[in-house]
Amino acid sequence: MFDLARVRSDFPILAREVHGQPLVYFDNAATSQKPTRVIESISDYYDRYNSNVHRGVHTLSGEATDAYEGARVRIGRWFGVEDPGEVILLRGATEALNLVANTLVDSLKPGDVILVGETEHHANIVPWQQLEARIGVRVIPIPVDPSGALSLESAKTLCSEHPVAVIAVGHVSNAIGALNDVQGFVTLAQENQAYSVIDGAQAAPHMMVNVKELNADFYAVSAHKCCGPTGIGVLLGRRDLLERLPPWQGGGDMIDRVSFSGTTYNELPWKFEAGTPNIADTIGFATALDYLESIDFKGAVEHEHRVHSHLTEAMLSRDKVDVLGHPNHWVSVCSFNVKGAHPTDVGTLLDQLGIAVRTGHHCAMPTMEHFGLPGTARASVAFYNSIEEVDHFLEALDRVIGMLTD
Ligand code: PMP
Repeated sequence: MFDLARVRSDFPILAREVHGQPLVYFDNAATSQKPTRVIESISDYYDRYNSNVHRGVHTLSGEATDAYEGARVRIGRWFGVEDPGEVILLRGATEALNLVANTLVDSLKPGDVILVGETEHHANIVPWQQLEARIGVRVIPIPVDPSGALSLESAKTLCSEHPVAVIAVGHVSNAIGALNDVQGFVTLAQENQAYSVIDGAQAAPHMMVNVKELNADFYAVSAHKCCGPTGIGVLLGRRDLLERLPPWQGGGDMIDRVSFSGTTYNELPWKFEAGTPNIADTIGFATALDYLESIDFKGAVEHEHRVHSHLTEAMLSRDKVDVLGHPNHWVSVCSFNVKGAHPTDVGTLLDQLGIAVRTGHHCAMPTMEHFGLPGTARASVAFYNSIEEVDHFLEALDRVIGMLTD
């Protein structure tokens, strides 16, 4: 059973004060907090078995290799992927998306169209634009509908008009929090013999994701949004596709044999993991998923949904607040502006009251452009937040509104 009080005590940082006020951490879309267990798993690796993986015959290297490869299996299993060859450990969702765009280069030809959601994070836009400049593919945005979700109908029309080769969309948008119909986009990609690329950075910490059931070709995840450490993430991809793609970076671990007469490459997943991997944080990521399982993740998701609904209902009812979007399926985020005030001022004053929200364009400038805004303030909740914290935030926001607009 999900027990909020116990869960909160697992996160030491939640007990701290900011400017003499209890911290209310509502910046979970930027990064989540880490439970003690995750922090300890990382220091335990450095304390007891720090060693490089894969090539050592000594005990420590064997232990580090077992922990690293065991973490890979654990991470894959959380996302419904049983084959560790389909679990590529990378620096984060950004690197995962860059890997896909860069390795698809030989599978695409000039004139091919890449459909990219209009509300994507820059990490799922810029790599495709770089490919556009490099090989002459065309990037076309999938429009956002008035609710803030990506329009599947518009994507269908675009597919009937253009030679679409890739559909790259976010599972949940980080600037609005809209849950997109990714199943619809994956099916649409399949119907058009296009690759489906899903940015799961904002979905993974807020719901169970089964990449095999979704049948996406590529799915990118960031550990630091899922109570894991920064600097680690995963690309989950289909083995048959990954085998066809060329390696991306060259170096140790990704090779089979190196010779000046010709070099051959390692098998999956190591073909895409050049150099010493981020061993400690991979172990931390797997521990974070163990932790999520241990707290009754399903209960945690239900609780978070109640907290988020409480927040969005209250925000939508405030005359002096404009909320960005009102999706049918809305996850974690509430992006807003106080009428007549700059979001940075709102964020700065909330910080003085102990409340952490993010302000700005949220690495989603095209989303801001669509809505004609320079930026927003964004409150984003996680399962360890409480209804009381939302009420505290609302009281603080009302004070800030008074300060800025009276
Ligand atoms: N996509 C989305 C939707 C995100 O919110 C983020 C992180 N802000 C990223 C990609 C980039 O992820 P990472 O920090 O792991 O590189």
